[in-house]
Amino acid sequence: MASHRLNRRGDFPLLAANPALHYLDSAASAQKPRQVLDALRNYYETSYANPHRGAYALSVEATERYHAARRTVARFVGVRDPDTVIFTRGTTEALNLLATAWGRTFVRAGDEIVVTAMDHHASFVTWQQAAIAEGARFRIAELTPDGRIDLDHLASLLGPRTRVVSFPHVSNALGTVNPVREIAALVRARTDALVVCDGAQGAPHLPVAFDSLGVDAYAFSGHKLGAPMGIGALIAKRELLETMPPYQYGGDMIEYVYDDHSTWNSLPHKLEAGTPNAADAVGLAAAIDYLNAIGMDAVLEHERSLVRLAYERLSEMDGVTVYGPAPALRSGVISFTASDVHPHDLATILDSTGVCIRAGHHCAQPLMRRLGVSATARASFYVYNDTRDVDALVDGIARAMSLFAGVAS
Ligand code: PMP
Repeated sequence: MASHRLNRRGDFPLLAANPALHYLDSAASAQKPRQVLDALRNYYETSYANPHRGAYALSVEATERYHAARRTVARFVGVRDPDTVIFTRGTTEALNLLATAWGRTFVRAGDEIVVTAMDHHASFVTWQQAAIAEGARFRIAELTPDGRIDLDHLASLLGPRTRVVSFPHVSNALGTVNPVREIAALVRARTDALVVCDGAQGAPHLPVAFDSLGVDAYAFSGHKLGAPMGIGALIAKRELLETMPPYQYGGDMIEYVYDDHSTWNSLPHKLEAGTPNAADAVGLAAAIDYLNAIGMDAVLEHERSLVRLAYERLSEMDGVTVYGPAPALRSGVISFTASDVHPHDLATILDSTGVCIRAGHHCAQPLMRRLGVSATARASFYVYNDTRDVDALVDGIARAMSLFAGVAS
């Protein structure tokens, strides 16, 4: 079975040092492989200087490694032009960059911005606030009962005033893998809106080919694929990046500064003001190299095999409700509730047996309202998990439910 073949636990020092730990919170942040930690150390020990600023060899080397990391990201997400990869702190900053620089410039009063009921707050709130600021109408595509975007409803929202359509590649709360190409084609057939895909849960878990997805912009966070926190990227069509004004002002992003106005540097610099997070970009490239050596198809297959097992076993448990679609339509995320046990209590009891899961609204309050719950428990799998983690999860839930059944009786 694929889940036994792909066991990378030994590559992750934190997990290797804690054999009893069942880390099932990779959708929040992934553990770091030794290869990434080594790359960071190597960069700081051999190539560290402020990129772009110096004529001396060490700064040139630092600059080259930073831009080599950009080329690695471009290849990873299927982009031919590396200058259309803008390094950001992560998905949140990437979406804010877009909604601020592009949205505040090109969205007008009376326009419409469409998101989905499964959008993460980083997308939902960011576009909601852009709509409020510009006097645009904010519209929400609803979901099917099994937690997919209702494409008929989405289509019914699209019209001549639609300026932006934003949706997640994969839902962080349900694990639903959305049909990105189909959605982009649906939008294109009806509007000339900007199509934005939040790839925070996409790029770490499945192959991404930006140039053939049909979307205008794609965002992801490095920390969810084994890279350090504080590095991620906005990928967008060149024309889009060329036409939007800078997001921030400062060093590196200018061409000339006159007393009364300034002109901007070329891409990607125009949208990367100030000293970049070069070391973590190098760490991101190392994390991508690590995943590429496994193969993103294999990563997805591995996660699916574990999520299928978890789905089957949790669905068999009396009192457990699993949210979202069938395993074949998911990445490695499973959200659930267990009768009388509040998700936070469940997470605390699981923690006492070494099982780390997340409980809460998962930054998706609009989705929770639609599910009729205030919170769910969520387990998420990655390359270092195996069937023993599923066993520990199921045993821990059964234990929590029997503890609470004792309290209730
Ligand atoms: N979108 C989705 C779907 C996410 O899962 C997350 C992280 N939970 C984000 C956006 C925000 O990512 P970050 O906090 O790394 O900026």
